[in-house]
Amino acid sequence: MIIQTLLDFYKDCVLCPRKCHVDRIKGELGFCRLPAKIIMDCALVHHGEEPPLSGKNGAGTIFLSSCNLGCIYCQNYQISHSSEGKELSSRQLAEVMLDLQNRQCHNVEPVTPTSQTPLIMEALLMARAQGLNIPFVYNCGGYEDPEIIKSLDGMVEIYLPDFKYGLEEDAVMFSSAPEYTRFALDSIKEMVRQVGDELELKSGVAQKGVIIRHLVLPGRIENSKEVLRLIRKEISRNVYLSLMSQYTPTAKVRNHPNLKRRITKSEYKQLTDYALDLGFNNLFVQEVNDYELTPDFDSENPFDK
Ligand code: SF4
Repeated sequence: MIIQTLLDFYKDCVLCPRKCHVDRIKGELGFCRLPAKIIMDCALVHHGEEPPLSGKNGAGTIFLSSCNLGCIYCQNYQISHSSEGKELSSRQLAEVMLDLQNRQCHNVEPVTPTSQTPLIMEALLMARAQGLNIPFVYNCGGYEDPEIIKSLDGMVEIYLPDFKYGLEEDAVMFSSAPEYTRFALDSIKEMVRQVGDELELKSGVAQKGVIIRHLVLPGRIENSKEVLRLIRKEISRNVYLSLMSQYTPTAKVRNHPNLKRRITKSEYKQLTDYALDLGFNNLFVQEVNDYELTPDFDSENPFDK
């Protein structure tokens, strides 16, 4: 019943805050340019996620095509800015999930499920019926509709949302995503309501809970601080926070006044100190290699490789 309700959204798509109201079953396309089908780029064993997700054997990451955000600096733009990929039925996606479990992955983790949620959840239920017993990770960009998240109650063990913007100006400028902050905040509150604000671990591997990711952007520390203030004030200081330092400029933003460089050690330290001052005690932090843009910089992005 829940799945049928979700599938019905394809007829008048309001699966995300963009509320395009297109009939994807008839072939109409909204902002994400996705049909009412599963479009996948690839599925792989991922050792680069946060330690409780990757564990020893890796996360079972399923890269889905396109995204409802379209950030101009996207670190994964080859996949998220394209709606091309392999077309799968729900049954075929269930097989992909079971294959990842057979490969000893600690979880199955679709990235980004938002625009493809109905068929992914149908696939998940099929896989569960065939013995899938590892956690399902909902790895999304944070531009979610809280009502859709509410409908996933009981099906998702781990939520892995981004919380990218605390400032409306940044959400509009970088992702053309009006009211991002409100939607992210309300959706993450609902995620926490469902699975709690802590992370349940078994032998160091995540079983249930929420990890909020924030990619620190160069020169936008006030935006990052506002994200932290909002999480502290409106969600919880116990929640696991992953402060990501790996931002790397892509060709598209090579001349952008803010986005043309990596972040500095000092920017990152300011933010981690601020998180500690606010009382967050579950932080994932990373190394920062100070980096300056070289004059002959030419679209080299380590995520491309
Ligand atoms: S999922 Fe895609 S078509 Fe549906 S509302 Fe969001 S951007 Fe529009």
